[in-house]
Amino acid sequence: MRKFILLMFTVCLCMICTGCAAGNNGENYVEENNIKMGTICNIKIAADKDKSKEIFENLWSTLDDIEKTMSAKIEDSELSYVNNNAINEEVVISEELYYVIEKSLYYAELTEGAFDPAIGNIIDLWKIGTDEARVPEKEEIEKYLGEANYKNIVLNKDNNSIRFLNDKVKLDLGGIVKGYAADRIKEILINNYNISSGYISLGGNVMTIGKKTDGSMFKIGIQSPYNVNKLDRVVEVCDKTVVTSGDYERFFIENGIRYHHIIDPATGEPARSGVRSVTIITSDSIMADAISTACFVMGEDKAKNFIEKLNGKLEEKDYIESYTIKQ
Ligand code: AMP
Ligand code: MG
Repeated sequence: MRKFILLMFTVCLCMICTGCAAGNNGENYVEENNIKMGTICNIKIAADKDKSKEIFENLWSTLDDIEKTMSAKIEDSELSYVNNNAINEEVVISEELYYVIEKSLYYAELTEGAFDPAIGNIIDLWKIGTDEARVPEKEEIEKYLGEANYKNIVLNKDNNSIRFLNDKVKLDLGGIVKGYAADRIKEILINNYNISSGYISLGGNVMTIGKKTDGSMFKIGIQSPYNVNKLDRVVEVCDKTVVTSGDYERFFIENGIRYHHIIDPATGEPARSGVRSVTIITSDSIMADAISTACFVMGEDKAKNFIEKLNGKLEEKDYIESYTIKQ
């Protein structure tokens, strides 16, 4: 666990260093760090220092609320209520949770199940990111394979309800919720506080607002999976999100094998697709989050085709750029 926390710190430091180098040339930037949603968060915005206390309080409590609603690990979260009660039973849910689940099912369909939020029970078997991480028996996984599938989740817009078609489904929104949170924080900063420059870094999810106050672009570092203290590259963005899924974020090693937290829904095991990380750059963080997880599962060639096809359907402002770091 200690090793894991240390790693998460290093991951975030890279982002923060890049952010600082990119940002503060004496302009009115204010910055706070916090641990929310199980990850280190860093938010930096061009704002008056006097107003910043209120702004940050609002942002941190928004992240707390999102976690209390959407975490599958918090026993009394709204999502846990769904997981415990929606088996063959319609459960009416909040608009916010409905929105994120609806998006997650949309991306599950779009990625042909490479991203699948219904595999919560398989994710639980591995316990990756906890002290009890372990390799489950084949039979334990087989019990859920195929049936823990997004196609067995039914949403009903008429009454904002959800129903699971079997008892193998359990929702885990860990692959999409940080993206949703980054979009939400950006929206609050723009709509409620008129912020026109800054960035939001939630672990591997970075969202930028506008350009830097000196007119230049934000520089975001993409971590090298081979050395947590090194950046593989730095990308320059304005009003875009940069989201990375990697095998170095949460993992354990047993008998020389790395077991990481991105599960291939087809096998129920950590995806072995030949890549170490996938970075997606686009406008919406919720889309980038779902797609980076899916592209990691697909592997380089399939992901490249998938993104090419998707770009053909997207508006220019949403156009996706991607970087893959191979094994
Ligand atoms: P990310 O870091 O965004 O790639 O998300 C990884 C997290 O998403 C994991 O810790 C799990 O909670 C969840 N997850 C793992 N594999 C998948 C998958 N194939 N589809 C959807 N969510 C997943
Ligand atoms: Mg993701």
